[in-house]
Amino acid sequence: MSQPLPPHSHPPPPRRPWSLRTQIAVVFGSLVALVAVLLSLAFGELLKWRIQQEAAASLHMVAHNAAKVLAEGLFERSRLMQVLGSSQDLWEKGIDAPEVLPLLQRMHSSRPYSRWIGVADIHGHVPTDSNRILQGKNVADQPWFQAGLKDLYVGDVHAFEGLASRLPPSSSGEPQRFLDFSAPIFRHGETVGVLGMHLSWDWARDVLEELRPTYADHAQIELFVFDRRGEILYAPDGRIAPYVALGQKLPQTEQPSASARDSMTTPGLAGLAQWEDARTAFLTAVTRLPARNLASDLGWNVVVRQPVATAFVGADTAVLQALAGGIAAAMLAALIASLAARRLSEDLNSLSRAALHIEAGTPGAVVPQANSTREVQRLSRTLDHMTRRLLTMNEEMEEVVRQRTLELQHANQELERQASSDPLTGLLNRRGFDARLATAVALAQRSGRPLSVITIDVDHFKRVNDTYGHEVGDNVLRTLAQQLKTRLRASDAVARLGGEEFIVLLADTAPVTALEMAEQLLVVVATLARDDAGTVTISAGVSALRPEDENGNAMLRRSDAALYAAKTAGRNRAVMHL
Ligand code: GH3
Ligand code: MG
Ligand code: MG
Repeated sequence: MSQPLPPHSHPPPPRRPWSLRTQIAVVFGSLVALVAVLLSLAFGELLKWRIQQEAAASLHMVAHNAAKVLAEGLFERSRLMQVLGSSQDLWEKGIDAPEVLPLLQRMHSSRPYSRWIGVADIHGHVPTDSNRILQGKNVADQPWFQAGLKDLYVGDVHAFEGLASRLPPSSSGEPQRFLDFSAPIFRHGETVGVLGMHLSWDWARDVLEELRPTYADHAQIELFVFDRRGEILYAPDGRIAPYVALGQKLPQTEQPSASARDSMTTPGLAGLAQWEDARTAFLTAVTRLPARNLASDLGWNVVVRQPVATAFVGADTAVLQALAGGIAAAMLAALIASLAARRLSEDLNSLSRAALHIEAGTPGAVVPQANSTREVQRLSRTLDHMTRRLLTMNEEMEEVVRQRTLELQHANQELERQASSDPLTGLLNRRGFDARLATAVALAQRSGRPLSVITIDVDHFKRVNDTYGHEVGDNVLRTLAQQLKTRLRASDAVARLGGEEFIVLLADTAPVTALEMAEQLLVVVATLARDDAGTVTISAGVSALRPEDENGNAMLRRSDAALYAAKTAGRNRAVMHL
């Protein structure tokens, strides 16, 4: 069963880190961006709140003024009725006296919106009226008459078919509607009739039109009046029919938003409300008419509305503009931070470049003096000192290594010499001889020149030792070695192969010449009478390299055989075996 390899058998290569400059720019940029965004959001929200508050305050002001003027108009007219009704001398001759008609007509013409002014006796009979519309009729069933008998009365807006049909239509084109004012007529402390007035509702429209601020069209500000029950009484241009059709009631306002920041909008001034004629909310100010007396307190509300988009225009752009300003500030900060970090990163880069040059051993490479910040300056100085010290140490180390290597070479040479030489005689030993033999054989084979060898053995050496002692034996061996060395050329190799056996390798020498040399040597040794050991003789075997020989072994064997032959033939002689 083969085990699947783990998914990540090799760790991923480390990510290349950002440069110092980028990091500083990013850190500064994001910090400033964060602060700027937070500040600009707060600033933007503050601006937005101010704009909303101002819009609410100005709507409230419009509504408040309109309510005040309307309330004043209602009060002033009701007061007039009350004063006239209580004027003793006016009614001295009765409500049907001839003086009454001109008075009513004067009143009618001096009141631009009055459509009817008349009197009725306590039974509802109308003896006279300003425009003779209801003269001789009975108004006992009219609310204004019934209420006016008892006290000062102001009746809410209503249609009045009997009157409207006899009057020109309202300027808005909608059916004429009226407001009723009535007051009891007193004579000698007794109620003798009712003074009544029907005021055209056009009055309210003109008042409100006049009170509309000059910028209202541009700002899409609209005024409305709702009655005590929340029914619409007045809409812009006096056209209430569309709103009635939609079932528009007095709108309920709420603060611009449920969120905490918007609850700062001053309560009561204006709030957001949904209207039946639009999907979007309106900033809406609702003001109840400030009644001056009980009778004129009809419970009306003046309502002023403005589309939210228009009312709060600039509020959202204020936030966006502040935000854009903040982000621009952040980018500028990042740029400045990046420029400031540039010198630092340039210094660090030049330090690392210098380190590379020093490592590569570039001649003349030094640590540059960096000055962007105190820390980098200190770093560059420390690096410079360290580099100089390391370079000096390196040189010293190299010198020590050189010395040691030399000593080692000498020691090796000495070892080599010791390993290849014989301690007693100072001649080559078997190992040293073998190396020389191999070289000489190779040379001879290449050049085709002769190579000869003489094997030498001391005769009856045992006896020398036995007779004169081992020390004397050693001296005999040393003397013999000396003789061999002095008599041979530097190119010839002389070795002690062990015991009292020697060998001489003669390069570039024919075997005949070697035999001659061996015989001369025999003579020299034999004639050398020693003080300590008397006469010592040697035997020698001579041989030479044959062309078919691969190495020197066969030549040595032949030479040994020749030596053996010399021994058996009686010693102190040389035998050649080619
Ligand atoms: P032959 O003529 O047949 O060579 O007789 P020989 O006595 O020389 O030969 P043999 O091999 O019987 O004896 C060699 C002697 O050489 C034996 C040993 O005591 C002596 N010998 C070997 N090496 C040394 C040495 O380093 N120093 C001394 N003093 N004697 C040695
Ligand atoms: Mg021997
Ligand atoms: Mg011997």
